[in-house]
Amino acid sequence: MKYFCFLIMAVMALAGCSSRTKQGAETQAAAVEAKAAVPEVEFDADSAYARVVEQCAFGPRVPGSEAHRRCGDYLAGRLRSYGAAVTEQRMTLTTFDGTEINCRNIIGEYNPDASKRLLLLAHWDCRPWADNDPDPARRREPVPGANDGASGVAVLLEVARQLSVNAPKIGVDILLTDAEDWGDSGAGNDDTWALGTQYWAANPHKPGYRPMYGILLDMVGAGGAVFAREYFSTYYARGIVDEVWRVAQAAGYGDYFVDDSGGAITDDHIFVNRAGIPCIDIIDQSGDGGTGFFKQWHTTGDTPDIIDTATLKAVGQTMLNVIYNY
Ligand SMILES: [Zn+2]
Repeated sequence: MKYFCFLIMAVMALAGCSSRTKQGAETQAAAVEAKAAVPEVEFDADSAYARVVEQCAFGPRVPGSEAHRRCGDYLAGRLRSYGAAVTEQRMTLTTFDGTEINCRNIIGEYNPDASKRLLLLAHWDCRPWADNDPDPARRREPVPGANDGASGVAVLLEVARQLSVNAPKIGVDILLTDAEDWGDSGAGNDDTWALGTQYWAANPHKPGYRPMYGILLDMVGAGGAVFAREYFSTYYARGIVDEVWRVAQAAGYGDYFVDDSGGAITDDHIFVNRAGIPCIDIIDQSGDGGTGFFKQWHTTGDTPDIIDTATLKAVGQTMLNVIYNY
């Protein structure tokens, strides 16, 4: 994923200023009511962290690699072991540089017959090149993807485990998307990214699939993460952003889920929104490395040691509170 346009960000930040203050007051008022309503389903961040380590132990999950194939089997197996109805989409996709890659989207459904549904998604592939590495000699190595990839998947696997022991009232679909990160960082064209999601949007796992909305998790594990309100999420699904941020703040995670306007980011959620399903992106925009993202973004340093269980907890608990508030 990448930043789409910094100019849009600046305009958004200015335009969003006055309404943010008002939103802040309303958010706090609503938070008091919400706190009592949240059921006691506890997200286990240590369990999620173990899922990060397990994914990374396969090696970088670059489409076409042995690590990718083995990790795909592992992810489908995990979802099955947590009682999900698992379907896979296997397809050959062509990347911007003409490479044909064998890909798979992995979908786990809970309460398949419920009409009221929530879509949770994260990409599980790794970028083939660490093109942001501080060491130019390492920029052709793949990204280990502990935060950029494994963290979102790990949170969703722990959510899946909870769903298997605490049946939700609504239907929940977990979509692990492939080939998000083989995009052209030099191009203005965002269609080179999120190839697995683009495929899914054109070929949904169920005909006429229409969840209430979607939540994308991307880079949700690094210490000191900051989840500003991402531009396209606000553009397409402002009410969902407001609600999810309200739930997070009510649970005490306001240091992560801040009320600032974030950047405009090309990511899986763009193509879900274009398919007519409102979808937001929870993505770390701490800007620590000067890229707008976390410090080790698209470097060989994106390894499990940068993952903080407190960040996984903030995101995972927020997801559970959203689900069990229905
Ligand atoms: Zn990436």
